[in-house]
Amino acid sequence: MSLICVLRRAALLFGSQEIASYKSDGEILRYSYTEFYERVKRLGSALRGLGVGEADVVGTLAWNTHRHLELYYAVPCMGAVLHTLNLRLSKREIGYILNHADDKIVFVDEDQYAAFAELGRHDLRCVIMGEDQTEHRSGVASYEKLLENGQQGFEFPDSLDENAPAFLLYTSGTTGPPKGVIHSHRSVFIAGLALCLPQFFNLTDRDVVLLQVPLFHAVGWFLPFSSMIAGAKIVLPGPHPTPQRLAELIEGERVTVTAGAPTVWINFLNHLNKTRNYDISSLKRVIVGGASLTPAILNEFEELGVEVVHAWGMTEGPAAVVNWLKRDIDGNEEEVRRVKLKQGIPVPGIEVKVVDQEGNELPRDGKSVGELLFRGAWVIDSYFKDPERTAQSFCGGWLRTGDAATIDEKGYIQIVDRYKDLIRSGGEWISSVDLENLIMSHPAVLEAAVVGVPHEVWQERPLAFVVLKGDYVNKIGKAEIIDHLRERVAKWQLPDEIIFVESIPKTGTGKFDKKALREMYKNYFIERSTKSQQP
Ligand code: AMP
Repeated sequence: MSLICVLRRAALLFGSQEIASYKSDGEILRYSYTEFYERVKRLGSALRGLGVGEADVVGTLAWNTHRHLELYYAVPCMGAVLHTLNLRLSKREIGYILNHADDKIVFVDEDQYAAFAELGRHDLRCVIMGEDQTEHRSGVASYEKLLENGQQGFEFPDSLDENAPAFLLYTSGTTGPPKGVIHSHRSVFIAGLALCLPQFFNLTDRDVVLLQVPLFHAVGWFLPFSSMIAGAKIVLPGPHPTPQRLAELIEGERVTVTAGAPTVWINFLNHLNKTRNYDISSLKRVIVGGASLTPAILNEFEELGVEVVHAWGMTEGPAAVVNWLKRDIDGNEEEVRRVKLKQGIPVPGIEVKVVDQEGNELPRDGKSVGELLFRGAWVIDSYFKDPERTAQSFCGGWLRTGDAATIDEKGYIQIVDRYKDLIRSGGEWISSVDLENLIMSHPAVLEAAVVGVPHEVWQERPLAFVVLKGDYVNKIGKAEIIDHLRERVAKWQLPDEIIFVESIPKTGTGKFDKKALREMYKNYFIERSTKSQQP
C-alpha cells in the first residue's frame, strides 16, 4: 500500500488523462499523467542528488500547483517525508515548525521566497518553484533546473514499507505550540481509496476534480490521491486563488467535483450572484468541510443543481466522516435537509463515539451531547515528538477531538460546537455554530462569527460579528438581525450585541479565528455595563 502503486497504476492505466495547472502568469499548463509520472521520477532522482534519504523531512511552502503535486508523490515515493508548511501561518509559527520538524530542504513558491528568506534559516537548502529556470544565489536552486538535470529512467525503490511516514503536518494547538502529525503511506492509501466510494467523493475517470483544498492543509483531504486512484482529470487553481479564478476554472475546465471550507464557498457563491455570467453546469458535487456546512450554502448550491456533501475531519484524521443519505432516511424533505446538514457517517476504516466527562460512551440517540472520539486507519495514535500532548489527547487508543457532538440512531454525527467555543451563559450552554448559521441564513449576511465574551452577571454572553453583503452595507442594522433570530432561538440565546465588520479574522486554515476575537473583545461587556440584565 505505498503511494508508488498509486502513481504507477495511474500512469499505466490513465496515461493520457490531463492535469491542468493555473500558473502565476495567468496561463494554464497542461500535461498528461504520463508526463507527470516522468517529471515525478526526475524529481525523485534530483532529490537523491540533493542528498535526501529515507525518512528525511522535505518542506514545502507552496500553493496548489502542478509542482506541489509532483512533490506530493516524489518525496514519499523516495521514502522521505513531505512536510507541507501552511503559508498562512505567522513567521514565528513557521520558524518553530521548521525547527521541530527538522526539515532538510524546503521547496518554496516564487512568491513565498521573500517570507522564507526573512526566517533567516541560511542553513536550510531552498529550491524555488517558478517559471524562471536560472540558478539563484548559492544555496538556492531552481526547481525546473533540478528537473532538467534529473536522471532519465530513474525508478522509485520497490522496497518501501507501507508503514513508512509519508506526510508531516502541523495543527495549531489550543494551548502551546503547533503539534506534529504523521500520516503513513498506508493511511494515505486507504483513505484515498475509501473516499473514492460512490457514497463519499464518488470519483471515476470521467470526473474533473478541482483541487481547491490547500495542499498545505490536511493532505488536501486526500483528494490528490483519490483523484489519481480514480484516474480523474485534475485541475490546480495556482497561487492566491480567488472566487473569480475558481468560477473561471469550473467553467473553462468543465469541473465536476471540488471541495473546500465553507468560507471559500460563501465567497464563491457571492461572486456568482453578483456577476451571474458563469456556466457552472458541469459541476455535480461540492464537498464542504473544515467547519460546519451552513444552510445558506446548501440552499444556494442546490438551487444551482449542485449536490453538497458535508464532511468532517481533523489534521489528525482528515475526511473521516462524510455525509451520505442512507437508504433508511425517510424521504420527507425536512428530514433529508436536517440529515444533510449533519457532518455525516464514518468512512470505512474509521470508528467514532461520543463520551461524557468520565469517558463513558453516551447513547446514539441524536440528543446526548458529549465529546467526539475517533480512531481508525488514517487517524494518528501519537503526536510527533510530543509525548506529553500524546498522553493528554488519547484515551485507550481513541483520539479526543475537542468537539461536542451527538450521534443519532442511524449513525449520523452532528457537531454542536468546539468545546472551547461553546458559550456559557448562566448555567446554560449556547452553541456559537447554531447562532452563526442562523445569522448567515439572513439574505443580507455574507459571514457571521459568534463568540462568548466575559460578562459580570452571566459569566459569558454571545457577541456576534457580521459581514454584510456589499449591497446591504449601512442599510441593515442590529434590529433586523435580532428580529431574524428572535423567531428562531430562545430569548436568552440572542446575542447581546451585533458588531458589523468588513471582514472576520481567519486562522491559517481559513476558519473564523474565534480565539483572536475573544481576546480582542474580552472586556467588551464588562466595560460597557456592570448592570446588565439577562435579556
Ligand atoms: P483542523 O485540524 O485544522 O482540520 O481542524 C479540525 C477541527 O475543525 C475539528 O475538530 C472541528 O472542530 C472542525 N471541523 C472540521 N470539519 C468540520 C465540520 N464539517 N463541521 C464542523 N466542524 C468541523
